[in-house]
Amino acid sequence: MDQTWSKADIHIHTTYSDGTAGVEAVLEYVATRTDLRVIAITDHDTIEGALKARRLAPAYGIEVIVGEEVSTAEGHLLALFIERPLAPKQPAATTIAAVHAQSGLCIAAHVSHDWPLDAIEGFNASLWLPRANLAAAATGAVLGLPLIGGSDSHHPATIGLGYTLFPGHTAADLRYAIRTRVTRPGGASWRWMHNAEYIGLWLRARAARRCRCPLLKCRRSHFQSGFCRLRPSFLFRSVQTKLMLPHRRAGEEIAHRHRAGVRRAAERG
Ligand SMILES: [Zn+2]
Ligand SMILES: [Zn+2]
Repeated sequence: MDQTWSKADIHIHTTYSDGTAGVEAVLEYVATRTDLRVIAITDHDTIEGALKARRLAPAYGIEVIVGEEVSTAEGHLLALFIERPLAPKQPAATTIAAVHAQSGLCIAAHVSHDWPLDAIEGFNASLWLPRANLAAAATGAVLGLPLIGGSDSHHPATIGLGYTLFPGHTAADLRYAIRTRVTRPGGASWRWMHNAEYIGLWLRARAARRCRCPLLKCRRSHFQSGFCRLRPSFLFRSVQTKLMLPHRRAGEEIAHRHRAGVRRAAERG
């Protein structure tokens, strides 16, 4: 195989979910402002934007992987190399099985029980605490899973901030690299400026959209779910995700169980 390494950003959102840039704007930015060879569009609970991006990508000289950030009962999972949308709100184990049934790869920043994940998101540029990424990377190391990185970009300025290095140039090379566990995550976290910029863009983009929430009749933002995304519970969940609190605990628990298992094996042997 060609031993040149390339960069992929495998976690990008568009206006098809809560991103603020349309598919064309994302492709334009990637082609003109980054050195990414491959990207994955991973909107929340839809693959429509990703399918459109894949259709348009050849004109921009980049390759697009169809992905989805699926909301499962136990948190978000990234599914890559899929062709059909995955139903949200299922148990994570069911979603992972559905991804594998379409020969896709399933990636998470956190692990629970014995999820048969294909990789760990060892670097997510949007998280607020560096230790959240360290915990994810440590979990991946303990479990012997390949580490990948992405920007979790919701507006163009953050595209490519987080990335995955892989030998080769194409999406197929990236897939092979994940399968053979030779990927490396890299990049820098969003700055506070990026967070502020995104919130501003997001408020502006959504202000024009009419609310479908029967109770609040507000003019606030929504996407697929049709629920008001400025509700306290949504904000609470968002902050929890950004801090990766439950995820970090899950990672520590797995590392602990792994160490206990090694200890028991040593005692037995
Ligand atoms: Zn999002
Ligand atoms: Zn995301």
